[in-house]
Amino acid sequence: MALPPSDDTSNRQRTPGTGLRRGGLPFTPAVEDYAKALYRLEQSTHDPVATGALAARLEISAPSASNMLRNLEQLGLATVAPGRGARLTAAGRDVARGVIRRHRIIECFLTDILHIPWDCVHEEADLLEHAVSARVAEAMWEALGRPDRDPHGDPITAVDDDDPDFGVLEALDTWEAGATGVLVRVSDARPEALRYMAAQGISPGLDVSVLSTEPFGAGQRVRIGGLDHMVGPELGRLIFVQRI
Ligand SMILES: [Zn+2]
Repeated sequence: MALPPSDDTSNRQRTPGTGLRRGGLPFTPAVEDYAKALYRLEQSTHDPVATGALAARLEISAPSASNMLRNLEQLGLATVAPGRGARLTAAGRDVARGVIRRHRIIECFLTDILHIPWDCVHEEADLLEHAVSARVAEAMWEALGRPDRDPHGDPITAVDDDDPDFGVLEALDTWEAGATGVLVRVSDARPEALRYMAAQGISPGLDVSVLSTEPFGAGQRVRIGGLDHMVGPELGRLIFVQRI
């Protein structure tokens, strides 16, 4: 697929609802990744995003981050106030939410249809999310029976909705003895942790209760889906639970 160069500013406006530039061309993978990173940072702080925070998140230099922010601004995806930080425009949020939705649908497709283990699908989806069009992703979603969560428990929301889980979910390692609830999602950022959880039978949708918390950072004894586990703080930070 021929992608337009990222500094091409000839198509400033998107075609509404598709996450595409006017003329139907997709944005470059880099533009989509920056929009996604800005979106995640905005969601967690609800403040304009400082260039340094964006650079840290993407593990790039501050000058590269500010170059790309200028690019996003020229494409109509972000506004940048010097000294105050960057914010996505409505068009920029559309692009970010579109990529996130495609990523999660692709993860479902890779696990459910192609039977690729859940510890491998995140990296594959990071690549494919830029290559699969919204049209193909929506057809995948229909063929999968319209799932509402990806294999790691992340919500597959409508393109114009934000994730509903912010503020509702807590990391398991913050729970006290006696707390009960449901395991809603696990972080997909560390494949080796996903492999470990899969081997232990830990996955989204299971009941969780904390039996005891051990002193000296030794973790928690936790019953998950009827099986007892010792969960150390490093693992507990990757498991997100909702109280009932
Ligand atoms: Zn993922």
